[in-house]
Amino acid sequence: MLFAIWIVSILVCTAIGSKKGNPVSGFIVGLILGPIGIVLAIFSGDKTRISCKYCAEKISKKAVVCPCCQRDL
Ligand SMILES: [Zn+2]
Repeated sequence: MLFAIWIVSILVCTAIGSKKGNPVSGFIVGLILGPIGIVLAIFSGDKTRISCKYCAEKISKKAVVCPCCQRDL
């Protein structure tokens, strides 16, 4: 039973990790921490998004112009 929970945790962590642009670290966190890793993965930083230095909105890392305040980055 615990084994099944662990497998699900790894899968969920990997899914969350890939959404945030880092599936490998998601997988590792799930593998080591199991269900606790899911919580950690949810609250970990999003690698694909950064905050705008002018308006502090979360925007894509690849953005050249901020979609919120229209400033050049
Ligand atoms: Zn902005």
